[in-house]
Amino acid sequence: MSITLDRPVRTHRTAISHRDLTPIQQTGWNTVEELTYDLEQAAHAGANVAAELVLAHATAAQFLGIDLPAGDILVQCSCIDCPDACDRITAFKACAEYLDGNVQRPQCPACVKDHRHYGD
Ligand SMILES: [Zn+2]
Ligand SMILES: [Zn+2]
Repeated sequence: MSITLDRPVRTHRTAISHRDLTPIQQTGWNTVEELTYDLEQAAHAGANVAAELVLAHATAAQFLGIDLPAGDILVQCSCIDCPDACDRITAFKACAEYLDGNVQRPQCPACVKDHRHYGD
């Protein structure tokens, strides 16, 4: 069985800072990040987790109040050049990525606009 959620989540904003979430939302987001990590490990081991990932993130987007295009996932900005330690959560496809060692890290649209980091 394969289910792909094909409807976008529409709320009223495209990003929110982790520090601006309520404590319950922060706990929820942390759980989604852990679940995402576990699913990515399963994907590396050969499992097809696309539907689970999309469903978990669409649910999280609703819970956090963030717009999410159909089929996309949420990521937290990990900009290393930030004057204000950006921790925005936003749609992955809206972000740029830079290479930190051999790890790809997302940089949110606001950071890309102000101080795009191209990595090593
Ligand atoms: Zn930044
Ligand atoms: Zn950012």
